[in-house]
Amino acid sequence: MSDLERYQYDVVVIGAGGAGLRAAIEAREHGLRTAIICKSLFGKAHTVMAEGGIAASMGNVNSKDSWQVHFRDTMRGGKFLNNPRMAELHAQEAPQRVWELETYGALFDRTPEGKISQRNFGGHEYPRLAHVGDRTGLELIRTLQQKIVSLQQEDLREHGDLDARIRVFAELTVTDLLKDGDAISGAFGYWRESGRFVVFEAPAVVLATGGIGKSFKVTSNSWEYTGDGHALALRAGATLINMEFIQFHPTGMVWPPSVKGILVTESVRGDGGVLRNSEGKRFMFDHVPDVFRGQYADTEEEADRWYSDADNNKRPPELLPRDEVARAINTEVKEGRGSPHGGVFLDVSTRLPADEIIRRLPSMHHQFKELADVDITAEPMEVGPTCHYVMGGVEVDADTAAAVVPGLFAAGEVAGGMHGSNRLGGNSLSDLLVFGRRAGAGAAAYVEGLGERRPAITDDDLAAASKTALEPFTIGGAADAAVENPYSIHSEMQQMMNDLVGIIRREAEIAEALQRLTGLRERADRAGVEGHRQFNPGWHLALDLRNMLDVSECVAKAALERTESRGGHTREDFPAMDPQWRGVNLVCRLTDDGVELTRQPVPAIRPELLTLFERTELSKYLTDDELAVFDEASG
Ligand code: FAD
Repeated sequence: MSDLERYQYDVVVIGAGGAGLRAAIEAREHGLRTAIICKSLFGKAHTVMAEGGIAASMGNVNSKDSWQVHFRDTMRGGKFLNNPRMAELHAQEAPQRVWELETYGALFDRTPEGKISQRNFGGHEYPRLAHVGDRTGLELIRTLQQKIVSLQQEDLREHGDLDARIRVFAELTVTDLLKDGDAISGAFGYWRESGRFVVFEAPAVVLATGGIGKSFKVTSNSWEYTGDGHALALRAGATLINMEFIQFHPTGMVWPPSVKGILVTESVRGDGGVLRNSEGKRFMFDHVPDVFRGQYADTEEEADRWYSDADNNKRPPELLPRDEVARAINTEVKEGRGSPHGGVFLDVSTRLPADEIIRRLPSMHHQFKELADVDITAEPMEVGPTCHYVMGGVEVDADTAAAVVPGLFAAGEVAGGMHGSNRLGGNSLSDLLVFGRRAGAGAAAYVEGLGERRPAITDDDLAAASKTALEPFTIGGAADAAVENPYSIHSEMQQMMNDLVGIIRREAEIAEALQRLTGLRERADRAGVEGHRQFNPGWHLALDLRNMLDVSECVAKAALERTESRGGHTREDFPAMDPQWRGVNLVCRLTDDGVELTRQPVPAIRPELLTLFERTELSKYLTDDELAVFDEASG
């Protein structure tokens, strides 16, 4: 192919959010030649949008905190479906990763004694989120980018070439992973501006592509989150787990329609904000589920005292894990106690002085003033659930982040297992750092183990990848009346996923969703575009569509199969949590007949980790056989 750019690297990292940058730094620090690819501008990733903070048990605000308490909270938040080894490594290593960020130049907010400040968040027993106002992600990305620039400066001094061992390819979309036999041999993509094709020959690829939110209509996610990494992994023969678990963040903006879904950070509640319905009632007290009763306050007075005396009072129920709060809001609205625009009220104006609100929540103040003409220092916000995060993702080895395909690694939101059925706020940024680093190290070890051997890419591989990428032009140019518009298909799919596989699910509706996905897939096969390859958003969307359809099919199939309610999967027809399902991961793989679903056991929780919990709590989640392991371990 004449218009093909070719590059050779040891490790190719797809994604320049927190997970991708941390992985790239690690691979480069192992001395490997590393490429970072991102489909948006460098620095524009989901990570930059993160507001509330990074969860790490540094114990700066409450010295009782420890990795064991963080592990316990994470397992509880995930309703015990988490990969326990990932939750353990995450809780143990998060503090080191935050301190490391300081050595890269991060400037966190401080406590009066000068330590890194930590704030409260839903599901975390102690104040645990290291933060920079409500712009933590910006500081995280700025710092990691600065570290990469410093590594490039080192290379300039040593090799006379800034890009000698680490180079960023921005606004380049990867459309296919390439393989030599069973193993990864590289990645194929196109420059968004010119449409020109690019191939990266590399034995190791780290997927760090983030989430899938753009498959749903109401979402806090931005345009890039079309599930590319999930779909690339599937097509390369890797497996996805837990895809039924989608986090609907309880507080997205609901008005005006143009901004519906934009996130309202959980810090508003962490810093004292309360949720009220149209009757002015703090309704969360009516929605504390049995598994959490005893850990949350029963009265407003006790809940309010907790902010100044957390040791002697129970937490406000506004700080329950996100799945619980989202379901409660949904119920209030459905039962007719919603706000004028179909949400509920989130009020911080009567809880903190105006100057304190502006100091702690500058972005929220700005966001509501600019987008909704609401002054949050004087009036409540209207909020409702928004599709925010996917717990499901590429099945990986906890220690090395390796997927089942040799040479493929995944970290960050695209990887599955760590958060079980529901992620706690703040646990994503820590996940990116902990497992980004592990993925970079895993990829480096894999490449070093290959020695001189390198997988090959054939001309046939390239011809096939380029033919697939150009398909929308071939169809668009056929002057066939059956040509479909990618934008119409996307918008129908988003509405359908929201309505039929959204926050509350029912068997008949999920079955209908699967049927409609088959129809949408047939139409997507005829999605055509006109014009040139130079910046052509219709073409880009036509290519993204197949990713979103693959991923949506996984979500719907797994949602139909799991006949219980747990975390980010609520079945109205099976409202209870079932201990028999606690130990089951649903695994998706792609076959010639579409997505195939199988069951696989969730890795067992080591007995020493089980003994961190009370038996009464475990008995709400585990089967009798599992409880016998606890009984033996605790003597
Ligand atoms: P991302 O940061 O999402 O980056 C993905 C990268 O992959 C991008 O560079 C993108 O361009 C690239 N990419 C995708 N597809 C392709 C492709 N085909 N080819 C090339 N490149 C591709 N979590 C917390 O822990 N604390 C918070 O306070 C918090 N606040 C949040 C606020 C908002 C508004 C949102 C949306 C999320 C928030 N989260 C928070 C969640 C967290 O930000 C994300 O889960 C996390 O940043 C994901 O990071 P990542 O590195 O996995 O991917």
